[in-house]
Amino acid sequence: MGTEFRSQLGRVGIFGGTFDPIHNGHLEVASAALRTHCLGEIIFVPARRQPHKDARPKASAEHRLAMIGLAIGGTPAFSVSDCELKRPGKSFTIDTVRELGQQLGQATEIFFIVGSDSVSDLPAWRDVRELSNLCTLVVAARPGWPLDSLDALPHHLPAERVAAVKRAAIRSTSSAVSATEVRRRVGSGRSIAGLVPDAVANYIARNKLYRVT
Ligand code: ATP
Repeated sequence: MGTEFRSQLGRVGIFGGTFDPIHNGHLEVASAALRTHCLGEIIFVPARRQPHKDARPKASAEHRLAMIGLAIGGTPAFSVSDCELKRPGKSFTIDTVRELGQQLGQATEIFFIVGSDSVSDLPAWRDVRELSNLCTLVVAARPGWPLDSLDALPHHLPAERVAAVKRAAIRSTSSAVSATEVRRRVGSGRSIAGLVPDAVANYIARNKLYRVT
């Protein structure tokens, strides 16, 4: 899985996250990135373990991967890679962009997608300067995390890269859904209809995921 990308399409998005589980906010952001940046493909990359999150994912890698597959099944431009799940240790974005960049080839322009809640963490990301040279960082506005946070980036990145990040940002705000809220609702027996695709909700119920939060 994840080695046969449609690299000839030239502009490829990489969307990393825990996806525990994937939800409609993720799908909205990916669709907006596809449209805004005329991407040929977006590769969802579930993390084995995110460096900036203390807690381990609640669902196994297999379940998270399966739920992504169900959520993106109807969208030919969306694919999934298990490269971070296979790589031992914490999942650093720079390693993923280097690895997928090699597979996609030098002619492919890479766009790495993050929600605006991640901007404050960016300076602490491993090799963030090199990362900003290897790809365009696409920051998607998430309710509660205004894009004003981009103004703090000049302390950490060269001015022309900051300008590129600002130009590439997705300003239309996505829904306020979070994976934490999805897990909480399942844990307290409430409906998650409208927060995740139906196929994902059915998968969570069938496999009894997130019953204990
Ligand atoms: P959790 O609630 O468990 O922390 P999450 O909902 O933030 O999870 P992640 O899988 O950690 O989901 O997110 C992956 C990426 O998607 C991150 O860059 C995050 O900022 C972004 N993201 C998640 N939900 C949204 C949303 N509703 N709008 C915009 N970006 C989002």
